[in-house]
Parts: sequence; structure tokens; C-alpha cells
Amino acid sequence: MADYDIIVIGSGPGGYIAAIRAAQLGFKTAIVEREHLAGICSNWGCIPTKALLRSAEILHYGQHAKDYGLTLEGSFKADLEAIVKRSRGIAVRMNNGVQFLMKKNKVDVIWGEAKLTKPGTIAVAPTKKPAMQPQGPVPKGAKGEGTYTADHIIVATGARPRALPGLEPDGKLIWTYFESMVPAKMPKSLLVMGSGAIGIEFASFYRTMGVEVTVVEVLPQVVPVEDAEIGAFARKAFEKQGMKIITSAKVTKVEKGADSVTAHIEDEKGGKQTITADRMISAVGVVGNIENIGLETLGVKTDRGCIVIDDFCRTNVKGVYAIGDVAGPPMLAHKAEHEAVICVEAIKGLHPHPMDKAMIPGCTYCHPQIASVGLTEAKAKAAGYEIKVGRFNFVANGKAVALGEDSGLAKTIFDAKTGKLLGAHLVGPEVTELIQGFVVAMNLETTEEELMHTIFPHPTLSEVMKESVLDAYGKVLNA
Ligand SMILES: Cc1cc2nc3c(=O)[nH]c(=O)nc-3n(C[C@H](O)[C@H](O)[C@H](O)COP(=O)(O)OP(=O)(O)OC[C@H]3O[C@@H](n4cnc5c(N)ncnc54)[C@H](O)[C@@H]3O)c2cc1C
Repeated sequence: MADYDIIVIGSGPGGYIAAIRAAQLGFKTAIVEREHLAGICSNWGCIPTKALLRSAEILHYGQHAKDYGLTLEGSFKADLEAIVKRSRGIAVRMNNGVQFLMKKNKVDVIWGEAKLTKPGTIAVAPTKKPAMQPQGPVPKGAKGEGTYTADHIIVATGARPRALPGLEPDGKLIWTYFESMVPAKMPKSLLVMGSGAIGIEFASFYRTMGVEVTVVEVLPQVVPVEDAEIGAFARKAFEKQGMKIITSAKVTKVEKGADSVTAHIEDEKGGKQTITADRMISAVGVVGNIENIGLETLGVKTDRGCIVIDDFCRTNVKGVYAIGDVAGPPMLAHKAEHEAVICVEAIKGLHPHPMDKAMIPGCTYCHPQIASVGLTEAKAKAAGYEIKVGRFNFVANGKAVALGEDSGLAKTIFDAKTGKLLGAHLVGPEVTELIQGFVVAMNLETTEEELMHTIFPHPTLSEVMKESVLDAYGKVLNA
């Protein structure tokens, strides 16, 4: 008999949620972690970045206190050490939370680096990999080194920063997200290579903290996965804040000085320029952790750095599953969690619904925030839909005006034939909280009629959502 019904490798949002759901369903479960419980998300990703961005947001309001009729006496200054300390403290709290959940659900924690050695078997060795960051605390009562067997093994090993050849991060002058999150001192100037969610969130944080920020993006728009109009709106807002943005251009070479970098930048027309900055952040995506975990030994199929899975997270090898970042894009914590539940429920034979990737929302917590779900206008057209598009500007929303945050845009896209909501795209205050309304609507296969009949509370930012729907059908009220 195997030691466990299910062993999960990696304790990020994919892994630890899989372990909890497995335990809930009565499986004898263990989770293996080599660095820190709760994975990248809680320790070096989603949560500590939001803590930093919150400090930046409060600094911004402090600097604009007069706009709200408030006078601050004495100075209102950023204390970088305290800001970073707060962010790290929050990461530790999340880490402890997962430790508590493992204990509560009677999931055994095995501390070390796991490798598949044969079907149903893993070997756990002490972490060899030079940890990019100090290891988290070893959970009390954790098992260690050894060989463990299970009927089902779920690989949830996550991802790490992508490095471009010749532009590799060195942790000193060229940072990944790890170093960007714990600066010992504020650089005066910063070059951010890549304007996806991670790059733009750091660009936003550092700009608000007063750093001269330049963003270089190889594609024609910032936040390239977003609708072009939202990208253009966000770009204007960032430029107004003093960010320099260069699109359709790439960093081709970096020369390192004693305490600065000089980046050579080439645009699509062959135009060249150099920019010198104190530090550079490489934010060009992440790659799955597929190496040294025994995938080749068992013949588990991979494709472009990720494990290939079916609708129920099964790999091509019986008894081996993969979820989260290591199982491919979009590399988001909520996608990892959702896959975790699908994977375990399918093992139990509960026939969960496969995930519809079109329904996965994306959020970027820059200032202004960006959030979306479904098809962009360009993708809806490319898919052959005849569409109706509605737009509503936050400037005409009473709550946004009262908040002093009236810059933003809500855009909705409908199938003109059926009224089906195909996509919703938001940029503006608190839109990362608003988007869920559209996500639920899309999951319920809502039409324009139902949205127009829904009563939105007044005064709320959510009213922009309804107005954009009304606008798509020529019925907008406050514009
Ligand atoms: C700066 C930043 C900000 C982000 N912000 C957001 C956000 O706002 N919203 C969002 O949805 N997503 C965000 N993400 C992405 C999110 O963090 C990931 O999608 C999520 O963490 C993926 O979860 P996971 O469980 O697949 O893997 P991870 O969280 O990466 O966890 C994998 C775990 O596996 C462990 N591991 C790896 N190999 C082994 C092994 N051989 N043995 C034992 N353990 C192993 C690792 O140590 C790690 O703890 C952000 C990412 C970054 C870097």
C-alpha cells in the first residue's frame, strides 16, 4: 500500500489548495515544499507586491491631501525600510496561514526538494538549489528526506523569472521580482524591461515613490494582453504621472557600470538609443519549473517549458497530474487554485466542469488599476463576431468624482446577434474589485438585457459597468 493517496509537490496556491481539497475529500495527503509554504504568490508575488503598492497609494494620497481639504503638519515621507518590512511581514503572515491550514486539514508537510523517481514514487532530498531568497521557516513536525509513495502525484512546482540571453538578471544591477521587492535603497532611476502585469506594477510602485521610471516594451502597447483602448488609456495615465514609456522597442544590450546600467534600445524601425539608469528590472515573463523533478524519467510530456495536461490536469502518465504555473498560462494564482480543485475532484470521480480559460479574469494593480475578462475588441472581431461595444468614462460617475479618482474607462463587448457578453475591460479606481461582477455575469451566460435590468447601487463605481452596457445599446444615461 502506498504511503499516501495523494502527494502534492509545491505549496503555492495550486499546491496547497489541492492538498486542502484532497484532505476534505478524505484522501491521505502530503505536500512537499522546498523553500516556503504558500509559494511565490504569498511570499514573492501577489501579496507582498500589493502590500508595497498599498504603501505607494497612501503616499500618493498623503501628497494630495490638500485636494481633500486636509493639511498635513510636519513631513509625510516614505520610509523604505519600514515599507519593505511591512510587506515582508505580510508574506510571513500568509506563510503561517498556510502552515495552520495544513495542520488543520491533517496534511503532512514534507520539507525538501522532490523528484519523481518511478510511477507513484518520489524521492525528497534537502533543498540543493541555491535558494534565491532565504528559506521560509521549516513547519513544525515536517517530515524530511526520504522516499515516499502515493497513488496520485500532483506537480505544482510553479515558475521562476524568465531570463533573456545577454540580459540575465544579476540580482545587483539587473533585478528580478525578488530583488525589486526588497530594495535596500531607493534607486533614483529605473528601467523596466517588459510591461506585463509584473513590470507595470513595479513601474507604478517605484514611480509613485518618486523614482524616474522608463518602461521598454517590445509590443506596440503597454499591458499587451489587454484591450488596445485600455492599454492606450493606461499609457496616457502613466505618462501623466511622469513615467517614460517606449513601445515597439527592445533592449538589445546592457552595459554595467559600478552602480548603474546603460541599456541599448532598438525600435522596430531600427532607431537606436541608450538609457542609463541606476537599476533595471527584467520583467519579461516567467518559465515553468520543469527541470530536475524527474519528468523525463517517467516520460511526462512538456511543451515550451510547461507540463502538458488535459481538461482534468492529467498528464500523459497515469497517476501524474500538473496544476498552476507549471501547467501553462495564464500564470495566475486564481487559475492555479481553480485547477487544483478540478484536479482533485476529478481524481475523486466527482466529474468537475473543465475550466473555461476565457472566463479567467486578469488584474493589474498599478495606478490606475486594470482588470478584464473575456475577449478584447480585436480578438472578438478576429473570432468573427459582429459586435456591439459600449464605453463609459469614470469622469461621469458621481462616486469616482467624490473619491477624487475620476479617471477611468469601462468597456463592454457584446455579440450583436445574441446579446452575449463577450468581454469586459476596465481601467480606473478599484476596478480589480469591480471585474468580478462581469466574471459572474459571463459565467451565467448573461445577455445585455439581463445586465440592463440589474440594479446597481448608487453611488458606487460599479455604475460605470451598467452604463457601459447601456452605451453598447444606445441607452446610456449619464453621458
Ligand atoms: C511579482 C509577482 C506578482 C504577482 N501578482 C499576481 C497577482 O496579483 N495575481 C495573480 O493571480 N497572480 C500573480 N502572480 C502570479 C502568481 O504568483 C502565480 O501564478 C502563482 O504563485 C502560481 O501558483 P503555483 O501554485 O502554480 O506555484 P508557486 O506559487 O510558484 O509555488 C510553487 C512552489 O513549489 C515549490 N517547489 C518547486 N519545485 C519544488 C520541488 N522540486 N520540490 C518541492 N517544492 C518545490 C516552490 O518552492 C514554490 O513554493 C504574481 C507573480 C509575481 C512574481
